[in-house]
Amino acid sequence: MSPALIDAKSTESAAPLKPTSILHRTPWKPPVAVSAEGSYITLENGQVLLDSVGGAAVACIGNGHPEVVKAIKDQVDKVSYVYNMQLSNQPAEELAKYLVSTGNNAFELCGFVSGGSEAMEAVLKLGRQYFWETKQPQRKNFIARQLSFHGNTVGTLSLASNPARRAPYEAILNHEVFHHVSPAYAKRFQKSDETEEQYVERLRQELEDKFLELGPDTVIGFVAETVVGATSGVVPPPKGYLKAMKSVCDKYGALFILDEVMSGMGRLGTLHAWETFGDGIAPDLQAIAKGLGGGYVSIGAVLLSKKVADGIRDTAGYWKHGHTYQAHPVACAASLAVQKVIQNEDLLANARKQGAYLSSLLRKRLLAPNSLAAPYTFDIRGAGCWWGIEFDFNDPGATKVDLKGQSFAITVQQRALENGLIVMGMAGTASLDGTKGDAILLSPAYNVTKEQVEQIVDILVKTVEEVIREHLQ
Ligand SMILES: *Cc1c(COP(=O)(O)O)cnc(C)c1O
Repeated sequence: MSPALIDAKSTESAAPLKPTSILHRTPWKPPVAVSAEGSYITLENGQVLLDSVGGAAVACIGNGHPEVVKAIKDQVDKVSYVYNMQLSNQPAEELAKYLVSTGNNAFELCGFVSGGSEAMEAVLKLGRQYFWETKQPQRKNFIARQLSFHGNTVGTLSLASNPARRAPYEAILNHEVFHHVSPAYAKRFQKSDETEEQYVERLRQELEDKFLELGPDTVIGFVAETVVGATSGVVPPPKGYLKAMKSVCDKYGALFILDEVMSGMGRLGTLHAWETFGDGIAPDLQAIAKGLGGGYVSIGAVLLSKKVADGIRDTAGYWKHGHTYQAHPVACAASLAVQKVIQNEDLLANARKQGAYLSSLLRKRLLAPNSLAAPYTFDIRGAGCWWGIEFDFNDPGATKVDLKGQSFAITVQQRALENGLIVMGMAGTASLDGTKGDAILLSPAYNVTKEQVEQIVDILVKTVEEVIREHLQ
């Protein structure tokens, strides 16, 4: 069997193809990549894959961009490492300046870490430090949402509410200071007799009730993914939602915190997701990561509003948190180069343009009256270079599709790989207990071409129809 031919129906029969010393994250052994150029990845067996999701919504300008490769090489030649508690470095200073200056006046300071989970841990601790320094030490609670993901550390797993990822660790998670309210997922949870405005008001009231239950002056902040990523498959908030939630935070002096690890840094066609979906508001604290380094390096960052920056500058004056690799010179040089490529090549405009084309083709092909997939295509949503396709097999009028206990989305993900396309399949996206729902995530590089968009849609639609056809009752 070729490395790419993974048996989607039975993970047991997909035994390791070659011995591996890696403790992998999947029940099957993933094929090994040996080279990559742009969005094309070559495997050990010679098969070439088109990556339509940038790995995990990370590789936003593809692999091997010459400007980034050069920046990394140059930086290794200059300074490869200094310890951030003793020395700062030029690329870190420059990247911070870039992030503050491009933030639409929302941010005054920036702190670096090495990835998304670290960024969200840092956000939690910065929120706490802010209230510690400003003499409100009684503030200790965080309110986040069900069906969310904020990282895989104990703190960020406790903060978020992703049932599958939490399950084995529930016993060691912190249930004392992390609390949850409903997701903002209109397509699934807005009631049929409710307008969008009424739905938003219900969610606002629920947050306010939670503040009152906990004691409003004990809350550090409300935390949300601006657009929900992997947990429910690119779910933008209803109109007015983020503004309404921020109004509750403002009323009780708590922080409004956004996790843009996946949704930010251009993925939706604007640098920050709140510029597309934020109703004109900006966060007090924000985490970014994936698109920041574009996959070239491990990096994440925390962006501080003037309010939080002042609270810390006027008191301690420094960050009581840190890691060995934060503000790493090579990571910062690579990220700065990635961001300059996006700016110089006008890639956000391309992301918006090709994203609109991608979504129109997806709708045309998946929802066409004669499409095998139409009765099961529940929703196509997103913006820029980030789209989610949600499937649903419960329409009583449609021919039954029986996956025999396997997830449709994961089956499609694996079959797509055999067909030459990398997509991300997510299961358990549509119910609060994480047991129902199938979504496919697409996040092509911002420099995706029209021809690649067509190739992505062709292979994906073919794959979806293949899997449906094989499981029709
Ligand atoms: C990926 C992700 C994280 C965690 O980032 P890692 O780099 O995997 O640690 C946190 N929040 C969101 C919304 C993410 O998508």
